[in-house]
Amino acid sequence: MNALISVSDKTGIVEFAQALHALGIKLLSTGGTAKLLFDAGLPVTEVAEVTGFPEMLDGRVKTLHPKVHGGLLARRDVPEHMAALKAHAIDTIDLLVVNLYPFEATVAKPGCTLDDAIENIDIGGPAMVRSAAKNWKDVGVLTDASQYAQVLVELKLDGKLTQATKFALSVAAFNRVAQYDAAISDYLSSLNFEEGNNTPPRKLFPDQSNSCFVKLQDLRYGENPHQSAAFYRDLHPAPGSLVTAVQLQGKELSYNNIADADAAWECVKSFDVAKDGAACVILKHANPCGVAVGADALEAYSKAFQTDPTSAFGGIIAINCTLDERAALQMSKQFIEVLMAPDFTPEALAVFKSKVNVRILKIALPPGGVTDWDNGRNAVESKRVGSGLLLQSADNHVLTLADLKVVTKVQPTPEQLQDLLFAWTVAKFVKSNAIVFCKGGMTMGVGAGQMSRLDSARIASIKAEHAGLSLSGTAVASDAFFPFRDGLDVVVDAGATCVIQPGGSMRDQEVIDAADERGVAMVFSGVRHFRH
Ligand code: 5GP
Repeated sequence: MNALISVSDKTGIVEFAQALHALGIKLLSTGGTAKLLFDAGLPVTEVAEVTGFPEMLDGRVKTLHPKVHGGLLARRDVPEHMAALKAHAIDTIDLLVVNLYPFEATVAKPGCTLDDAIENIDIGGPAMVRSAAKNWKDVGVLTDASQYAQVLVELKLDGKLTQATKFALSVAAFNRVAQYDAAISDYLSSLNFEEGNNTPPRKLFPDQSNSCFVKLQDLRYGENPHQSAAFYRDLHPAPGSLVTAVQLQGKELSYNNIADADAAWECVKSFDVAKDGAACVILKHANPCGVAVGADALEAYSKAFQTDPTSAFGGIIAINCTLDERAALQMSKQFIEVLMAPDFTPEALAVFKSKVNVRILKIALPPGGVTDWDNGRNAVESKRVGSGLLLQSADNHVLTLADLKVVTKVQPTPEQLQDLLFAWTVAKFVKSNAIVFCKGGMTMGVGAGQMSRLDSARIASIKAEHAGLSLSGTAVASDAFFPFRDGLDVVVDAGATCVIQPGGSMRDQEVIDAADERGVAMVFSGVRHFRH
């Protein structure tokens, strides 16, 4: 049996080649890899020796030769193929071990030049991988170091690979080549070419998009039982995103669990433990039904729960700090679908041991903190429309005190400003039209997803009443401007004393006059947060 080894990522290759050699497999290799194996004391034949051509053009041409591709592509069961190999003195290659020039890693480096990127486009590697993968019945093709161990197990056991293994390796090889070409195509399509500029600026949305996704799992069904569904992740997920979660216990996540868990996690990530304290989000059907900050997990959860205990039933709970036993005991009194935190104490986990259905997800917070979490490629959101695709950059705007413009005679107090910012952060995660009443770092009433802002305002105050909360002295956030004064009147009637909204309506003055007339403070954020 002959193996051709040509790898850029040389992780584990010496050990693997040693094991192949021990099994009596003949080793063929390209320049850099051959040297490494030779230095490790292995007998290895250079491909250049086989082809009779030196590697040339800075390595652009190494293995592109009939002696290599004939050995990979010949069908062992077709006598004419084998006769042709014999006539041209070509040996079969039965095992191909290739990983490609590091194109993705090269273009991910800041300041990568076009020339650097181009030089890192592997030509001969993918060609060999495709030849071997096409001829999968006769050739085993390895494209990643993670495959070495399993292949060795089989070779040691039986001296050859099973058809099932070779087929799986072939599929993995074509996936790898597709990813690789997609990365090249995405990169080149994203460049704003400029004559003579070796570091051309990048477009936010490439002209051609080949973004790669990797299937995580088939789901039992979609949003409804008659819909089929599956869950994929980005090839390169952003740190701190839902797909990086580890499930510690509980039933399999459903389609709706995943969608809601993502919304809850994105919302809770907006609160920085160091700056805002512990934060808790309880979410149902894509909308937060309680959000609060507190001194610890227990306080944050207890406050969030108070907003709407009825809706919290069967909700998704996310916190931005380690879940301890006290908070866990309190949470365990309610029915929970999914519980998410960056970490759990062993005692907290023990609380849920007997509640085997509760899905517990551990997700590391993004290392860069609140303002950094959605930078990079994952900051692009998509939505299918018929046979089209809408793309947009994520709504990652973070409002600070300095951005606020007070438009009324009454100035908000420092406490009110804190509540306004809190309400604004929550409103960003509530489906439009969103009206959010808050006080003392907790939501007091959430009106979501109505076609009229007025109805959202009414619903928020009805819900507060049902929860036994007083809206007197609350801060209100409206995700978009009040088109008329009536929405403002509803929230002030309910007890609000300060309001945050984007501003920008034709009738801003009418609304400002109404706020002055009612004696409440109002600030403009200058930003809108529609969410549909
Ligand atoms: P080495 O370090 O062994 O010199 O080179 C290994 C790398 O060369 C592998 O990543 C392999 O995919 C790549 N490679 C093998 N043959 C060719 C070829 O003919 N042209 C190019 N551009 N790359 C090749």
